[in-house]
Amino acid sequence: MNIEIDTHTHTVLSGHAHSTLIENAAWAKKAGLSGFVVTDHGPAIPSAPPDFNLSTLRYLPESIDGVRVYHGVEANIVDFEGTLDIREKYLKMPHFVIAGIHEIVIRSGGRSKDTQAVVGALQNKYVDVISHPDNPSYSLDYEAVVKEAARLNKLLEVNDHSFEFRPGGLENAYIYLPLCIRYGVRIVVSSDAHSAFGMGKFDAALLALGNLDFPSELIVNATKERFEDYLAERSRRVGLK
Ligand SMILES: [Zn+2]
Ligand SMILES: [Zn+2]
Repeated sequence: MNIEIDTHTHTVLSGHAHSTLIENAAWAKKAGLSGFVVTDHGPAIPSAPPDFNLSTLRYLPESIDGVRVYHGVEANIVDFEGTLDIREKYLKMPHFVIAGIHEIVIRSGGRSKDTQAVVGALQNKYVDVISHPDNPSYSLDYEAVVKEAARLNKLLEVNDHSFEFRPGGLENAYIYLPLCIRYGVRIVVSSDAHSAFGMGKFDAALLALGNLDFPSELIVNATKERFEDYLAERSRRVGLK
């Protein structure tokens, strides 16, 4: 199993990550990636830039030293309706939008509210994927989340960094990933790198997927071609093309 595009990476712009975009690109190349999505945090994370920062993504080159750079963001879910911290005029700018629920922004409200927060975010047409749905700080009805992702043709994430830093995360992945197989929900595998040294690091994620015999055709970022097919699909969804 191979992953050509890292769909979740941070730069110094997030305010708490350590490498620049150019450094990330250099290490992405070293790690053998064909490309990556730069997904700095939305403004509800205290150190992150304001949402209008997304309007400057267009100044970035399409690729750096042969490594494709896609524009993204990791928006924050800020309430139990799934509202995001990015205004629509900016949310429509990136190629790929991650929505994540983070303890520093919103605490668990219990299973029903946490699930509604994630489902509400999935229903936002700009949102492609929920980041680290394994996070044990929240209590999700995984069947409800996966079924909603299936209904909307949205993605769920397998976040390598989360397995390393969130005890209990991997156990949760063994709950939602079999549901993804059952309902045909596609996933992305990501490093969530907060420094260049983490670019393209997927070991724990790939081990779990291998243990589950996870079908490679459901992994949207396994190849650059498949990821670009997905981006074309999402462009039609959001009505930009
Ligand atoms: Zn996150
Ligand atoms: Zn992140």
